[in-house]
Amino acid sequence: MDLTALDQLQGLTADSLAMLSDAEMLTLTNQLLQVQALDRQTNQLKYYLPVSETATAIHRSTKRIIGVGGGNGSSKTDSCLVELCIRATGEIPLSLRDSYPREKLRGPINCRVVVESITNTLETIILPKLKWEHWQGVDQPGGVRGHYGWLPKHCLQKGDWSASWTGRTRTLDVRYHDPDTGEYRGLSRIQFMSYDQDPADFASGDFHFILHDEPPKEAIWVENLVRAKRVDGTMMLAMTWPDDPTTPVDWIIDRVYEVAQPGKEHDETYAWFDLFATDNQNLNQTALAELARSLSLSERQRRIYGQNLRLSNRVHPLFTDVPKVWCFACVDLTILNEEGRCGTCQSDAVCAFTHVQPVVGNPAYPVVCLLDPHPRKPHMLLWVQVDPNDDWGVIHELECAGSPGEVQERVQAIDEDYGWSSVTRVMDPNMGRSPSGVTRDVTWQDAFEREGLVFDLAEDGAAGRQVVNDYLKPDPQTHRPRCTVDPRCLRTIFQMKRYCFDDHKLTKEKDQKQTTKQKNDDMPTLLKYLANRSPDFRSLRAVGTVWKRDTGRYLPSSRK
Ligand SMILES: [Zn+2]
Repeated sequence: MDLTALDQLQGLTADSLAMLSDAEMLTLTNQLLQVQALDRQTNQLKYYLPVSETATAIHRSTKRIIGVGGGNGSSKTDSCLVELCIRATGEIPLSLRDSYPREKLRGPINCRVVVESITNTLETIILPKLKWEHWQGVDQPGGVRGHYGWLPKHCLQKGDWSASWTGRTRTLDVRYHDPDTGEYRGLSRIQFMSYDQDPADFASGDFHFILHDEPPKEAIWVENLVRAKRVDGTMMLAMTWPDDPTTPVDWIIDRVYEVAQPGKEHDETYAWFDLFATDNQNLNQTALAELARSLSLSERQRRIYGQNLRLSNRVHPLFTDVPKVWCFACVDLTILNEEGRCGTCQSDAVCAFTHVQPVVGNPAYPVVCLLDPHPRKPHMLLWVQVDPNDDWGVIHELECAGSPGEVQERVQAIDEDYGWSSVTRVMDPNMGRSPSGVTRDVTWQDAFEREGLVFDLAEDGAAGRQVVNDYLKPDPQTHRPRCTVDPRCLRTIFQMKRYCFDDHKLTKEKDQKQTTKQKNDDMPTLLKYLANRSPDFRSLRAVGTVWKRDTGRYLPSSRK
């Protein structure tokens, strides 16, 4: 490599540049391109571009426990290894220079990377991703889609991997520089371990950053958590949810995934990111679409969208609050190829869709108000607006502790706020018929009726669940799902994403007799009641009930 071009460049002025012959100019340009290519190889971290907005969010996160779910080809391992390299070297990629939180850089630091196996994972997959001499990607070396190893040459001892690497202890020493002044601060140490080691082997040292590639055993996670907590360090977990339902990952869902989700159990120090292979700009999307074609829906949910198995056993698997793509020819989820056609059948009858979008209140539309009364926890209510296409807009939800009288006040306020003139009320038939507890021999249905809220008893049949699933499919005419949920209905969204069948092993033959888990079932069950009623715009408007504004009493229209 000829680096004299750099000296030449330094001596250049606008005048001397103009004096160069075409041939000299061409030589200079070529030399500069070579210099840039060499810099890209020895300093790949500097040129790193996150594959998607979610990947950028991972680097911006200052959370202490960071989970990254992703399918094959989602770049989860690379995104996490880059985060490791930034923290261990103090080198911030140009693309993140303005946004990378400086408080995360406190090197030199102690890091630990734990992989599934030393021989099968560490040496063949992980270390090559770090060595600057190694190219990997779709394109030829130096191309757009791919990268050289992430650790910059100048961060290795003497610029040499072997001078930095100690095979016996599997540790790598890397040079840490101040991210702003570039001043050398000392050596960060990265220790590599594997899940086949005894959990007791993990019980030494303090670590500022611990990366787990694929799910560890819970005992190893807990041991590492202790090691990281002592120095206020960060734990990172990058994983694809396993295909095998017997692999014990429930603890990850409970300890890491759920607490990172919005809701009551949310822990501020946890974050979870889902990286979709379909968002990876470095991946050949046509090849991905080819792969997806051979997978079943649940395999695709896991491998392409990185969803976990417990949640791939969902009662309403199509429900999504992130955009996905539907093919009307396949009548199924699909992945677009690079021409924007269905990757499975090449059809262009495709549309992007999501179920969570604003539902605009329309006082002229009929509304079904659904109630699940509870003696010991808050009553759950859902309002669904039915439009002239008979499509459902889930527009409002309410959790309300208290007596039927208190519920009546809240309900009246909400109905008046939206200005609806036609509201049909339906309640859980099992609870509706049981004693309300307020007065021993009065049922819930009677107790609410006494307050002026007249609820019909719903049909409890399981068929409604399938109707809900049909309504979740995008409609060929409108290119929208027939059921949408307003973003304000947080509990409905939360539960629709989590409501599951009871038995993992029966996923293949889901029939209507299959039992569902009671967890997260309130709002989905109210939607089932709605479906069993097959609400339609015209008849609802005719039989609906109206407020008598002058008296402030709520009366069914049939009693007028
Ligand atoms: Zn198709």
